[in-house]
Amino acid sequence: MPTRGIVERLAAGELLIHDGATGSELQRRGVDVNRGSTSDELGVWSATANLETPEVVQAVHEDYLRAGADIITSNNFYTTREMLKLIDDEDRWEEYTRRGGEIAVRARDAVNPAAYVAGGFAPPYQGDLRREFGNQARVLAETGVDFLLAEYMAGDTILESPIRDCINAVEVCAETGLPAFIGISNLTDEGTLYSGGTLEELAIALKGSPVAGVMLMCSYPAQISTGLPRLRKTFDGPIGCYAHLGYDKNPRWGEPGEPYFLIDRLGYTPERYAECAVEWKQVGAQIIGGCCATGPDHIEALRRALRDSA
Ligand SMILES: [Zn+2]
Repeated sequence: MPTRGIVERLAAGELLIHDGATGSELQRRGVDVNRGSTSDELGVWSATANLETPEVVQAVHEDYLRAGADIITSNNFYTTREMLKLIDDEDRWEEYTRRGGEIAVRARDAVNPAAYVAGGFAPPYQGDLRREFGNQARVLAETGVDFLLAEYMAGDTILESPIRDCINAVEVCAETGLPAFIGISNLTDEGTLYSGGTLEELAIALKGSPVAGVMLMCSYPAQISTGLPRLRKTFDGPIGCYAHLGYDKNPRWGEPGEPYFLIDRLGYTPERYAECAVEWKQVGAQIIGGCCATGPDHIEALRRALRDSA
């Protein structure tokens, strides 16, 4: 495990490289990430891979570490009890969750013991956010993750309100004693929150909460570029970002062999994506990586570009 905590390194002004996509990368490598999906909504996505193809999950983590990631995120996006109800396997939520943390820690220890493991999870479509996230946070903390990352917040899945959900997530994650980060997803083209409200309002609401940092994530690069300066202006703590490329619902979903999402890099070659990363660094992002449809090649390119821009 790392000898210096992530909070300390961010306070010292260091820049850390986050990994890229896990779910779409598993899909690209042939793993079934479509379980429980219906015509209306995505199912448990990457969760089943923790039990069925752990070696592929570990290989994805290891490839990101070899590409230069300082941080990998455990494969726990939808390992909550509420989400696993979609495949009638909710009673095994703890096993899905624990395996996600264990696989990531094992990958880290094998490739780069100085790297950090984020225990990362997303809000379920329904249920009690504090209970679901509290369970994820507690089990992942037991596996040895270095910090917690509540992702996909204030996006298109809201349980109470965009801002209330963020506060709840930070509070229950911090109860473990680990640093609590949040990832804000689905920004609009104007750089505002998908479900209403602004980043400024969010930053004000987070004042006094035990949040260790805020990331903008799972939004297009241009949306991140619009939102990031607004976040920087009003949030005093560390900020970061990881954008998605194209990972949209497949219009042919339902036909045999068709995946729920289609992977499309939208012309963002690793080099072009790395140019965005350099811009985000200049705005003040201290953690930079990639989200859906990015791969280890994007992380390798942005690592090089960010080092050269130092
Ligand atoms: Zn994403």
